[in-house]
Amino acid sequence: MEKDQKNTAPMMSYWERESFFKNIDVAVIGSGIVGLNAAISLKEQHPALKIVILDRGMLPIGASTRNAGFACFGSMTELLDDLNKQGESEVLQLVEKRWKGLMRLRERLGDDNLQFERKGGFEIFKEDESQSYESCVDRMDWMNKQLAPIIETHDIFSKADHLIDKFQFGKVKHMIRNQAEGQINTGKMMRSLLNLAQSLAIEIFNGFDVDRVEENSTYVDIISKNNWRIKANKALIANNGFASQLCDLPDVLPARNQVLITQPIEKLPFAGTFHYDSGYFYFRNVGKRILLGGGRHLAKAAEQTDEFGTSLQIKTALQKLLKEVILPNHKTEIDLWWSGILGVGQQKNPIIKFISPNVMVAVRLGGMGVAIGSLVGEEAASLIMNT
Ligand SMILES: Cc1cc2nc3c(=O)[nH]c(=O)nc-3n(C[C@H](O)[C@H](O)[C@H](O)COP(=O)(O)OP(=O)(O)OC[C@H]3O[C@@H](n4cnc5c(N)ncnc54)[C@H](O)[C@@H]3O)c2cc1C
Repeated sequence: MEKDQKNTAPMMSYWERESFFKNIDVAVIGSGIVGLNAAISLKEQHPALKIVILDRGMLPIGASTRNAGFACFGSMTELLDDLNKQGESEVLQLVEKRWKGLMRLRERLGDDNLQFERKGGFEIFKEDESQSYESCVDRMDWMNKQLAPIIETHDIFSKADHLIDKFQFGKVKHMIRNQAEGQINTGKMMRSLLNLAQSLAIEIFNGFDVDRVEENSTYVDIISKNNWRIKANKALIANNGFASQLCDLPDVLPARNQVLITQPIEKLPFAGTFHYDSGYFYFRNVGKRILLGGGRHLAKAAEQTDEFGTSLQIKTALQKLLKEVILPNHKTEIDLWWSGILGVGQQKNPIIKFISPNVMVAVRLGGMGVAIGSLVGEEAASLIMNT
C-alpha cells in the first residue's frame, strides 16, 4: 500500500519539468571556468541549442572562484621539473596551450573585465636553495630560446637578484623574473563569464547536486542527490577535482589548496606574482593586500581530499612564510582563510574525452586552469557536437 511521504525533499513539479528542463541538448555539470567556457563556445557555434549548466554550489564553488589569479604558464623550476617527467615537446605544447588559453580568455572577456595586469612574475630561492637556482640559471638561455616563438617575447626569464632588497624579503638569496606573467581579478573573471553565459541564454541552475549520470540509448539521464531526474541529448562533466564522484577516472585526484589574504598593508614594498618551492607556494599583491596559498606538498595524503576546510599544519606553514620571508618588516593581519579543490594527476595534460557515447568529461586542470580553462572548454564543446 502506498505510504505518506513526509519530510522528503520537494519532488519536481510538472511546471518545473516542462518550463525549465525540457528539450535540453547539452547539460554541462559544473559552472567553473571549464563548464562556462564550454557552454559559451557551444552557444556561439550553435545558437539554436538549448544548453543548461548544473552546479551544486550557490556559486561555482570548486577552484574557479577560489584561485590566486596568476595569469601564468610555469615558473623555471616547475618547467624544469616537468621536463624531468615528460618529453620536451609535450612540455612546450602545454606551455603553448596555457599561453594561447590566456590570450583566448583576455580576448573573450577583455582586460578591463578581468582586471588583467602584466606586472611580471618572480620565483624566489632561499639561502639554502642555491643549487636549484643555479640549475635554473644553467638552463635559462635554452628555455628563453624555446619559449620565444611561443610567447613572442625574447628573454622571458632573467635574473632579478637586484630587486630582493627593494622588495624587502627575508632569507631570500636569489630571484628570477618572468616578464610575460600577469595577474587577474578572479572574482571579476568569474562574474564576467557568468554574465556572458546568461546573455547568451544559457540557463544556470545552482543547488543541483548531481548524484549520477546514466547513459540510455537515445539520451542521458542526470539524477540529482534529491532525485530530480532530467534528460539531455548529451552531458559534459566539468567538475574537475570532484570527477571521481561521478565517473571512474583513476588519474584525476582531488588536491586541496589553502589560501589566506591579509588586510591592506601600508607601503607594501612589492607587486606582482611570486612562486616558491617549485610552485607549491604562491603569493601576490591584491592591491595593497597579500594573497598567499599552497603548501599541500607538506601533507600530501591529508590534502588529497575534496573536502573544503583548512589544516593547522598548513596554516602554520603559510603564516611562517608570510612573517619570515614575505613581509619580515611589516605587521600583518589576516582578513580571510579559504580553500579550493584542484584536480591533479600524474600527467599535467587535461583529460577531454567521451566516457560513454553521449557523456564527455573535461577535467584535470591542475594548478593552471585560469590559463588553460578557456581552451579546454572550447575543445570539449567542439568535440561533443562533432563526434
Ligand atoms: C587555491 C587555488 C589557487 C589556484 N591558483 C591558480 C592560479 O593562480 N592560476 C591558475 O591558472 N590556476 C589556479 N588554480 C587552478 C584553477 O583555479 C583551476 O584549474 C580551475 O579553476 C578549474 O576549473 P574547472 O572549471 O575545471 O573546475 P572548478 O572551478 O572546480 O568547477 C567545478 C564545479 O563543479 C561543481 N560540481 C562538482 N561536483 C558537482 C556535482 N556532483 N553536481 C553539480 N556540480 C558539481 C562545483 O560546485 C564547481 O563549481 C588554483 C586553484 C586553487 C584551488
